[in-house]
Amino acid sequence: MSFGNLNIIDPLCRALAEEGYTAPTPIQNLAIPPLLNGRDLMGIAQTGTGKTAAFVLPILQKISEDSRPAKPGVPRALVLAPTRELAAQIDQSFATYGQFLRFRHTVIFGGVHQGSQVRMLSRGVDVLVATPGRLLDLMNQGYIMLKGVDFFVLDEIDRMLDMGFVKDMRKIVAALPAKHQSLFFSATMSRETGEFAEKLLCDPVKVEAAPQASTLECIEQKVFFVDQNNKYSLLEGLLQKEEVERALIFTRTKHRADKLAEMLSKNHINADAIHGNKSQNQRTKAMHDFKSGRLRVLVATDIAARGIDVNDISHVINFDLPNEPESYVHRIGRTGRAGAAGKAYSFCAAEERNILRSIERLTRAEIGIMPHQYHSESAKTAVGAAAEPATPNRHRTMQRGPRLESYPRSGPSSRKPYPVRRH
Ligand code: AMP
Repeated sequence: MSFGNLNIIDPLCRALAEEGYTAPTPIQNLAIPPLLNGRDLMGIAQTGTGKTAAFVLPILQKISEDSRPAKPGVPRALVLAPTRELAAQIDQSFATYGQFLRFRHTVIFGGVHQGSQVRMLSRGVDVLVATPGRLLDLMNQGYIMLKGVDFFVLDEIDRMLDMGFVKDMRKIVAALPAKHQSLFFSATMSRETGEFAEKLLCDPVKVEAAPQASTLECIEQKVFFVDQNNKYSLLEGLLQKEEVERALIFTRTKHRADKLAEMLSKNHINADAIHGNKSQNQRTKAMHDFKSGRLRVLVATDIAARGIDVNDISHVINFDLPNEPESYVHRIGRTGRAGAAGKAYSFCAAEERNILRSIERLTRAEIGIMPHQYHSESAKTAVGAAAEPATPNRHRTMQRGPRLESYPRSGPSSRKPYPVRRH
């Protein structure tokens, strides 16, 4: 199947050829024809499946068929994304795929001054990509009207719901005209996501890029059972192995992300952290450095990692397991992208043991155990209270997490070669 067979117009096919894409991905094959026919769509697709082009291409094609000039503050396509990074990346996709078309697009998100965003809007905009907060803010100030929206995309709905955007999304939906085409995407399909989508979609086509929550097949997943106080040494040892070319490491908290990046840098491993407390400029710089290869390691929290689109991430390392098993699927989807092989390593301490069990239940697969020098049998066999965070207030404990400062700091001289045996 080629893009031409999907009735994609020539200017878009040319842009795709320039990107080196020879054939549509499965989600593109499934989503593009009904979208060109005007159907609503519910897509279950993880990042890395080509889902962005699956909605960007039909929207651009439809917009190009309509010669009305863009009006100030009245977009024809509205795309909502949970984070600034993802929003910026989607906007970039519109620019890339639409490079041979005449249309106007812009992206708005919080954390930066609104001045330049308002100026862009006032010049007229066909496609607006936005995070919910800033969109509502500019709507309330009268800079944006949604009455002209023909195409409404909600990307990563599961994440939006997790992040508490449900009220914002309802307000935004209420401002849309009665007649519009809706395109919803989610990496996982929880009951909440299903109910949300059901209320808002009209007779949608449902497409799934991969069976739900079956984690991407080209990713080699391993779990390392380890005590909390050995996690840092284990990580440092792994990073000394040459084959860890570019690693995205997840921690549970912003504080742990900062601490970990700091400790790695002190030990001569180029690392930076990206999380919600960093300014937009800091986040952009860290992303740029990671993409360019200047940083070998990017430490991130779940929310900040949404939208990280770096093609050659060789390893995703869960320094801490996520509270929600769905986040595991999101996290490891950052490696093994567009067919490249990737590795997902998870560190599991005793108090995270039950989270690992939930992950295995969700993904319907057992994760292979990696033998290593810090292996903790008590973490592996933990059950009952020992397999849960220490206090009854699980959420608080998980948020705070153990203090990274207490982890041993090893200088370069104390580093030993680290034998990791493979199964
Ligand atoms: P996404 O799932 O939208 O985040 O896309 C994942 C990656 O796949 C991005 O780097 C895209 O540029 C790339 N991609 C999208 N469509 C194709 C395609 N048809 N062939 C090859 N790569 C693609």
